Amino acid sequence: MTVADISALLETLRGIVGNRHMTSDPAEMALRLVEDRGLFTGTAHAVVRPATTQEVADCVRHCAKAGVPVVPQGGNTGVAGGGVPDGAVVLVTDRLNRIHDMDALNGTMTVGAGCILADLRQAAAKADRLFALSLSSEGSCQIGGNLATNAGGSNVLRYGNARNLCLGLEVVLPDGRVWNGLSGLRKDNTGYDLKNLFIGAEGTLGIITAATLKLHPRPRREETAFLGVPSAEAALAVYDRLRAAHADTLSMFEYIERFCLETVLRHLPDACDPMEDTHAAYVLVELAGLDADADLAARLETTLAEAIEAGELSDAVIAQSLSQRQSLRALREDMSEAQKALGGNAKHDISVPVSRLSDFIRVAVPACQKEIRGLRPFVFGHFGDGNLHFNMIQPVDMSRVDFEARAKDLHRVVNDIVADFGGSISAEHGIGLLKRDALRRYKDPVALDLMARIKALLDPINIMNPGKVL
Ligand code: FAD
Repeated sequence: MTVADISALLETLRGIVGNRHMTSDPAEMALRLVEDRGLFTGTAHAVVRPATTQEVADCVRHCAKAGVPVVPQGGNTGVAGGGVPDGAVVLVTDRLNRIHDMDALNGTMTVGAGCILADLRQAAAKADRLFALSLSSEGSCQIGGNLATNAGGSNVLRYGNARNLCLGLEVVLPDGRVWNGLSGLRKDNTGYDLKNLFIGAEGTLGIITAATLKLHPRPRREETAFLGVPSAEAALAVYDRLRAAHADTLSMFEYIERFCLETVLRHLPDACDPMEDTHAAYVLVELAGLDADADLAARLETTLAEAIEAGELSDAVIAQSLSQRQSLRALREDMSEAQKALGGNAKHDISVPVSRLSDFIRVAVPACQKEIRGLRPFVFGHFGDGNLHFNMIQPVDMSRVDFEARAKDLHRVVNDIVADFGGSISAEHGIGLLKRDALRRYKDPVALDLMARIKALLDPINIMNPGKVL
């Protein structure tokens, strides 16, 4: 494309979204060209912020005609480089931020893709409903991005991930057509499930412009406990016990190793260790019940006492007030931020069958430490979903540069073990640019072939977020 062609395209896009909602100024675009950890930096011709589905469709159609790639972005909190452009037009969805419909009786809300997740949770609460998706980044990530990455978070155990919370979608396709699949139906067996093609596709098949989301009754009582456990194996035994006793109400089971807790305690100025003694690991547990009178706390205490009796649990603290609950939650929520201070970090967002979690840790930690002596394992995550943030922090006596040069070797060691355990190399954050090469190594070849054919069918000229995932 010539410079004149690009200028003509940008003028057309400016005409569609309005002068105030498009920029090609490098300084104004800067934050849209990098991902959260700064691992990837890209280039863009412009950033556009359309306000309606029609404007999105018009922008995409003109970009397709000019052969210029389009990269959708929501809150840009993704950590796999999926939103980083490479000579593209970045299309930001933040102005598609309207709640179109709230149907409390049907248990649905239909919303624009640019709605901030925390705002949607609040809107649902106002209607006396729960929108169950909850992530530490919920103050800035957008529902379109959440669906495009099939986000998980802390409530997956009870309510499922973004895919399970979505009933319908509206999508602008790479040729500029609009697929209206917005539907609040629980039952609809009229052919292929197109919606699930776009969920988790990381913007490679189309731009999600709106979604119909599933709401749940709002819990009337919540109990939060912080548990000290002697090992990951013991944490699994406690998990099994809690599931048996509280299956209907167990909404969170988050595993935290001692080094992670120490790090977050240093990071949070007002935080203190909830327990007097130190333990190998901890679990943040939440129960959420619909019955306001049910004495969840008493039931939880009974189960925990049985776990102590059985030697699975060393200590337990149950929050006695909202502020105590928030302090306990903060220990988990600030984990991602706290680890930044430790230096180089080889991150692995993996899953294995829940029953194999402790065996995985037992095998994978020494394998990593054999690869790089002095590595500091920083292991925490959504234990109840079989999903670990299996992060390896650089040794104290190694430079960050030297460590980062070795990160690839570590990824290989971890991913090979994940494959041996029948797991997934990406449980939450997606593939983006970060894991594209690894996907080729670990994904079933037939699945990869099908994915490539679907991409070619929907996007034959490869303008929709090219180079990501596949
Ligand atoms: P972006 O980062 O803007 O985009 C992510 C991907 O989706 C890109 O490939 C982009 O091209 C595509 N995309 C964005 N919008 C659209 C759209 N409308 N249509 C089509 N494609 C689109 N993730 C979890 O799953 N669980 C967690 O617990 C979690 N915790 C986090 C905590 C922190 C502190 C941070 C920084 C991130 C965390 N994440 C977590 C990762 C991130 O927040 C999620 O992936 C989130 O869903 C991304 O939403 P976003 O709006 O920021 O999307």
